[in-house]
Amino acid sequence: MSTAVLSIGSNLGDRLAHLQSVVDGMVRQGGRIVAVSPVYETDAWGGVEQGAFLNAVLIVDDPTCDGPGWLRRGQQLEAAADRVREVHWGPRTLDVDIVSCREGSIELRSGDPELTLPHPFAHQRAFVLLPWLAADSAAELSGTAVAELVAGLDTDERAAVRPTDLALQR
Ligand code: ADP
Ligand code: MG
Repeated sequence: MSTAVLSIGSNLGDRLAHLQSVVDGMVRQGGRIVAVSPVYETDAWGGVEQGAFLNAVLIVDDPTCDGPGWLRRGQQLEAAADRVREVHWGPRTLDVDIVSCREGSIELRSGDPELTLPHPFAHQRAFVLLPWLAADSAAELSGTAVAELVAGLDTDERAAVRPTDLALQR
C-alpha cells in the first residue's frame, strides 16, 4: 500500500484543466483518489515575470505504486500537458511534485536528487501546506502536524495563497 500526497500547479494555458488532468490521469493509471483539496491561486515568485499559479493537493493511493512510480506517473502527466500547449520558457503548464509518500504508517525517506522524499521545501511552502491541510485536517509531515506548520507560516506568505471558486472533479 502506498499513499502519495501530490502538489500540483499550473500557470499557463487552461490552468484548471491541467490540474484536472492529474486527477483524471491518476485514476486512469490505477490510483484511488483519497482526497482533493480546493483550488488556490498563488502569485509566482522569483525573477521571471509570469502569471499566477493555480495550486491544489491530491492524496492518491495505489497498492502497486512506489515512490519512483508516483514520480513517473506525475512526469507522464506533465509531458502530456506540455504536448497540448505551445510552451516556451518559464511558466509551467503543469508541475506535479511528490510531497510525501507513505507505506502504511511509514513515511518514505529518500535523499536521491531525482526523488527527494519528503519534498525538501514542502514544510515551508504555503501553496503546499494550505491545500494539504484543507484536504486532510489530520495530515502530518515527518511527525509534525501540517496544521502546526501552517500556523508557523509567515502571515504574508499565507495571505499570498488565495482561495478560489474553482473546484476539481473527482
Ligand atoms: P520544480 O518542481 O522544483 O519547480 P521540476 O518540476 O522541473 O522543478 O523538477 C526538477 C526535478 O526535481 C525533477 O527532475 C525530479 O526528478 C526532481 N525531484 C526531486 N524530488 C522530487 C519530488 N519529491 N517530486 C517531484 N520531483 C522531484
Ligand atoms: Mg516539479
